Amino acid sequence: MFSKILDYHVFNKSKLELMKYIKTFKKVHIISGNPEVLYNGLYDKSIFKGCSEYNSIIIPDGIGVVIASKIVKKSVEEKIPGIEVMDEIIKYCERESKAIYLLGAKQEIIDECIIKLKFKYSKLQIAGSHNGYFDMNSCEDILQDIKNSKPYAIFVAMGCPRQEKFINMYMDSLPASVYMGVGGSFDVIAGKVNRAPRWMIKFGLEWLYRVAKEPWRIKRLGSIPKLILKVIYNKYIIRKE
Ligand code: UDP
Repeated sequence: MFSKILDYHVFNKSKLELMKYIKTFKKVHIISGNPEVLYNGLYDKSIFKGCSEYNSIIIPDGIGVVIASKIVKKSVEEKIPGIEVMDEIIKYCERESKAIYLLGAKQEIIDECIIKLKFKYSKLQIAGSHNGYFDMNSCEDILQDIKNSKPYAIFVAMGCPRQEKFINMYMDSLPASVYMGVGGSFDVIAGKVNRAPRWMIKFGLEWLYRVAKEPWRIKRLGSIPKLILKVIYNKYIIRKE
């Protein structure tokens, strides 16, 4: 069910299998394993602190991770974009009358995101929300709000590593079952940013679309070749020594 890529166990079955697997946990942290998260996680332990195979699932979110899985000869079945997993969890919550909590992004984005979600999923319960601009070491009011609203799933859209740090710090003390860092997904749902066209997603070119739209992202792309080179180095150089 997992491909071992460097120190990580990356989920390697289909999105459908993933949804079944998520439901077997009492409490789970879903990590969108894109090359940036995985590469930075090697050096910034706070990203994965507290995560283990027992309470977290790393999903292969990005072409760099798909390539890495081929290099270690344990290919993932498919690339699983975090935003699509979020969408599946939301559909499940609507069907099962379970509530969600949205944490992150700017206030106007989160307001618009809620309008769009309520329009698309009319029966969805959005138990609460808060923007992503607050002091993580002093946010008792937000934690209390989450506790009071008792969501099944919390989506945290504050970018990496901030969102992972928040989840690692507070997951144990909160009542929700599913915790997921979703990066810029609220911006996409709100309609401020578009996802790449289908054909680009299919060919693993989502990163190219995002850089074309937001050129400042180019410096973040370095993590794709860095991750791949590190995987090659580990497989063919270290193993032979
Ligand atoms: N953000 C936030 N708090 C912060 C910094 C960023 O809520 O302190 C939000 C930001 O408004 C945006 C999201 O985090 O909605 C980051 O999106 P980005 O596109 O960087 O994430 P990616 O999808 O690349 O992981």
